[in-house]
Amino acid sequence: MAERITTDIAVVGGGLAGLAAVAAVARAGKSVVLIAPARQPDRRTTALLGESVDFIRSLGVFGAVAAESQPLCGIRIIDATGRLLRAPEVFFDAGELGVTAFGQNVPNEPLLAALEREADRLGALRIATSAETIVPGSDVVSITGADGTEVTARLVIGADGRKSAVRAAAGIGLREGRDLDQAALVGTFAHMLPHDDVSTEFHTPNGPFTLVPLPGRRSALVWVTTTGEADYLRNLPPAAIAEAVERQASSFLGAMTSIGPTQTFPLATATATRLAAERIALIGEAAHVLPPIGAQGFNLTLRDIAALARLVTGAPDPGSRALLEDYARERAADLGLRTTVVSLLNRSLLTGFLPAHAARSLGLIVLDAVPQLRRVVMRHGLGAT
Ligand SMILES: Cc1cc2nc3c(=O)[nH]c(=O)nc-3n(C[C@H](O)[C@H](O)[C@H](O)COP(=O)(O)OP(=O)(O)OC[C@H]3O[C@@H](n4cnc5c(N)ncnc54)[C@H](O)[C@@H]3O)c2cc1C
Repeated sequence: MAERITTDIAVVGGGLAGLAAVAAVARAGKSVVLIAPARQPDRRTTALLGESVDFIRSLGVFGAVAAESQPLCGIRIIDATGRLLRAPEVFFDAGELGVTAFGQNVPNEPLLAALEREADRLGALRIATSAETIVPGSDVVSITGADGTEVTARLVIGADGRKSAVRAAAGIGLREGRDLDQAALVGTFAHMLPHDDVSTEFHTPNGPFTLVPLPGRRSALVWVTTTGEADYLRNLPPAAIAEAVERQASSFLGAMTSIGPTQTFPLATATATRLAAERIALIGEAAHVLPPIGAQGFNLTLRDIAALARLVTGAPDPGSRALLEDYARERAADLGLRTTVVSLLNRSLLTGFLPAHAARSLGLIVLDAVPQLRRVVMRHGLGAT
């Protein structure tokens, strides 16, 4: 007979968002069930900025990933568009904000594994299946897994990614940006020269090409380009991809070697039309999908999770209408700001429109010249709204 489980909170989806949410709401004293099929390998790293590092630390998992993570003390932006109006190189130094680092670059695999262990330690029940039917009701949400397991929960947290079944079941729409035919190639590379804890972002006409520091003389690559070029690059043998990365980076880190396979991720911009509906709250890519510019996606998600965990702490009914309205209201400004800025920055690179290049170049010239403005931008990048 199929198993029936009753819980305060069910989290659907076991990516970074779902696992961090499980750890956070379990710590808030709620019974939690995670409904998630087995994970696929994830070769990305995540730049955790500002308070995100403290939040991950508060979940008790930073210690497990610290040795594999690297502080980010500087961010360099280089205009590699080759266009008529080119911007000067801009350097953001964490020291200008009076801190030693903007954050930490953490590999996703060990972070996911540490969050899974923490979820188990906190007693969250993990059901290794996907949620097949999700039926919201006034008192509980009923979920049936592909394996027949039935879960009823007072609150469902939808962390099931871009094609979220939870979002669809809640009747929440998706506002999708124009298809930009972009993908990100990711992988890890060793290099001859030190990165000095600086993340270097080359802005190219197809999107940003970024090398983010890892321990030792290693960096994580995020190469945003056309879907066709990303697929071509992914299929290159290790020596050829290392050469292509070195060439694109103008050899600023010297000769490069590929460590392990590369992987591609299709990119998109999308926002859920609401963040919550009857007994359902959305977080992560179920709520907002951003291109990887300025490392905003998961940092935004951690602020979603922190807000939810704070609201459910001590709440007699974690899925009440008032609580979910507070959640949606609290998150609206931050979400609106990030989506607009990231999508504008991305489009200003891709467009052939001269005034857009002029505006972007002028913005960077002003940023380069005015330290006060640079500090404002850095604080916003770290999560201030
Ligand atoms: C190349 C790249 C680099 C990035 N770098 C950064 C960075 O440096 N800093 C940063 O802050 N952000 C970064 N991001 C964004 C960040 O990676 C994402 O915000 C984050 O991974 C989203 O996680 P998620 O858990 O919401 O979605 P996903 O990782 O897509 O997880 C969703 C999960 O739900 C599961 N699922 C789907 N349907 C169901 C179902 N019906 N039932 C149960 N489970 C289901 C899936 O199997 C999956 O495991 C980057 C993104 C990309 C693409």
